[in-house]
Amino acid sequence: MARSPPGDARGGTTVTGITKLVGIIGDPVAHSLSPRLHNAAFQACGLDMVYVPLPVRAPGLAAAVQGLTALGFRGANVTIPHKGAVLPYLSWLDDDARAVEAVNTIVVSGEELRGYNTDIEGVRGALVEAGAGDLRGAAGLVLGAGGAGRAAALALARMGVLVTVVNRTAAPAERLTALISAAVPGSRCRWLALSDLTAAEVAAQRVVVNATSLGMAGAGKVPALLVDTVTAGQVVFDVVYTRSETHLLAQARARGATVVDGLSMLVRQAAVAFELWTGERAPLEVMHDAIARR
Ligand code: NAP
Repeated sequence: MARSPPGDARGGTTVTGITKLVGIIGDPVAHSLSPRLHNAAFQACGLDMVYVPLPVRAPGLAAAVQGLTALGFRGANVTIPHKGAVLPYLSWLDDDARAVEAVNTIVVSGEELRGYNTDIEGVRGALVEAGAGDLRGAAGLVLGAGGAGRAAALALARMGVLVTVVNRTAAPAERLTALISAAVPGSRCRWLALSDLTAAEVAAQRVVVNATSLGMAGAGKVPALLVDTVTAGQVVFDVVYTRSETHLLAQARARGATVVDGLSMLVRQAAVAFELWTGERAPLEVMHDAIARR
């Protein structure tokens, strides 16, 4: 059995027969900082709750989600790659989850499984925290059309950004632009194949968001075309978080851009989920501290 490294922050919760359970369903989940963040918050608020990783492969998704009710879980987060696939197993969706057809938070309410999308507020809150909350009329590029890309595109469109979705595969990008146009009347959202992206297109953006898994440990790299074109005056947001700052953000910072860290989004989306599960205000500072890079 592997031991945790010395000084590793655990929630400190003593698990008893009445401790309420929350988990994170995804593949992979080993890299996730959500257990650390939520367990610290539960402890700080004196809540008898514990948050556990639940590695689930695609064939086991239905059983895992239905098992939440059977096992008496209070709820769960859903992460890569299940945010869209989980929808058929839920009995109710909030407006944001319905708008982007993606769920990152499940609340178990009696026999009902309720789906929410708190990533959208995570994106908005992180931009505001970085001083980039006023983007009305600006051009914005979202690389990725999966769960995170959907949240980023909707958050930006609602902030009045003219969004270009760039994706390796056409179908999800096409679908996302249709969803955004339907969800935000009067917005302008177009898509572009990643293979057609040019330096001029990147340079024309005020906001650039990496919402792919590129840059995660074990995944590929964010295209050099994007990283090398960043300039001061742009806002560069990487939803991916790693042990040290991602290559994209380090380069953007060196070039004088405003950087928005995936860790900030992680805290903001977690705060909304925490409030849904507990009915209590989330301790933002405790959450930030629990996952801060040291
Ligand atoms: P997802 O739904 O599986 O989507 C993955 C996206 O990445 C798709 O657009 C996919 O394009 C693209 N992609 C994957 N490999 C690629 C490659 N080699 N080249 C080009 N594009 C590639 O995953 P997700 O849920 O959106 O998560 C994406 C990342 O965001 C993960 O690292 C996750 O941890 C992070 N995230 C962070 C937060 C936070 O709070 N900071 C919140 C949510 C997610 P195709 O459509 O072509 O496959």
